[in-house]
Amino acid sequence: MNKLYVDSFVEKKIKRGVQLLDERDFGQIKLNNQLVALHNQSGRFIGTAYLSKQNKGIGWFLTKEKQELSQAYFEDLFRQARLKRAHFEQSELTTAYRLFNQEGDDFGGLTVDRYNDVVLFSWYNSFVYEHRQIILQAFKAIYPDIRSAYEKIRFKGLDYESAFLYGEEVPEVFTILENGIKYQVFMNDGLMTGIFLDQHEVRNNLVNGLSAGKTLLNMFSYTAAFSVAAAMGGAIETTSVDLAKRSRVLSQAHFVANGLDLTSHHFVVMDVFEYFKYAKRKKLKFDVIVIDPPSFARNKKQTFSVSKDYYKLISQALDILEDDGRIIASTNASNLSLAQFKKQIERGFGDRKHSYESLQRLPSDFTVNKSDESSNYLKVFTIKVK
Ligand code: SAH
Repeated sequence: MNKLYVDSFVEKKIKRGVQLLDERDFGQIKLNNQLVALHNQSGRFIGTAYLSKQNKGIGWFLTKEKQELSQAYFEDLFRQARLKRAHFEQSELTTAYRLFNQEGDDFGGLTVDRYNDVVLFSWYNSFVYEHRQIILQAFKAIYPDIRSAYEKIRFKGLDYESAFLYGEEVPEVFTILENGIKYQVFMNDGLMTGIFLDQHEVRNNLVNGLSAGKTLLNMFSYTAAFSVAAAMGGAIETTSVDLAKRSRVLSQAHFVANGLDLTSHHFVVMDVFEYFKYAKRKKLKFDVIVIDPPSFARNKKQTFSVSKDYYKLISQALDILEDDGRIIASTNASNLSLAQFKKQIERGFGDRKHSYESLQRLPSDFTVNKSDESSNYLKVFTIKVK
């Protein structure tokens, strides 16, 4: 194993519990795609890490021990991770959740999600990808009952992003349960699957009273999962807005799967900023507005980033919110701290009176590294507006 010497700044970060190795903390490193033995400036061994460039970071700290990556090592990781999800496994009402979450389960660069008895591996860098045979063997030993597995490639350099891995091939679209509600998912079409599992608890709030008797506007709705949850929780009308043409069909399928009548549920294929204008012109008003944009988006006319532009969404939403309405302000941007997100929201509110009712972070199946705030990327405020 090659040695990598780190300065005292990096050494301290690692001692604090940070696992992600940040490119900015290292000078030129020639090593890539390999395990390294980290040493401090005085030559003392600090632990084992691996280097592999990915979308965020250049590698991951793994353990304070000297560690080779054997099948037994991964079995141990999966066994620990499984224990943490025991209550999900026992639930008959929720059949889709995360089984393994990167650094929250002590191995960054890998996630495994479960959709009934089908699992989805996501490889975030080529080092993990190159170890996939040993990882899959270890996984099968801990989860022998899983019927089939698919994979997503979340790094650059390969000529595919989604594939079937092992077991039985499953139908193109099938139904999972969350809190007793049906959602349609697909394992092998692009990087997305029809539902974002990290939003379990926000959907639960919508099911459990937050939207009862209310009208709801769902911005950046994708497959309208928030709208379905709201409708199942007694919302009288929902409107789901997304730019992608495909979103309408996928959204309707979610509603139909739950036996919901579509007459009071609307699906609009439109840019959200256009929709804000349209709604204002038509004098539409909503009791609850959900705003959950991608961290970054670019269309023909403009770019949008949560870190710079989120406030615009809030101020636009205020114009079409009923009195005593609520805004559910959500972001999954890991480059934005909770304080920075709140600042964006505050800027959007200006001097309009409002109070924060709740803050949702990642649910317990999305284990986080408590020593690194950026691993707890999800931030969802429910805000009451006077
Ligand atoms: N809130 C969703 C997930 C949103 S994913 C959920 O809980 O399932 C982001 C979505 O934003 C994508 O479906 C994308 O098509 C849409 N999108 C991106 N830019 C947009 C824009 N300017 N107007 C409307 N939709 C947009």
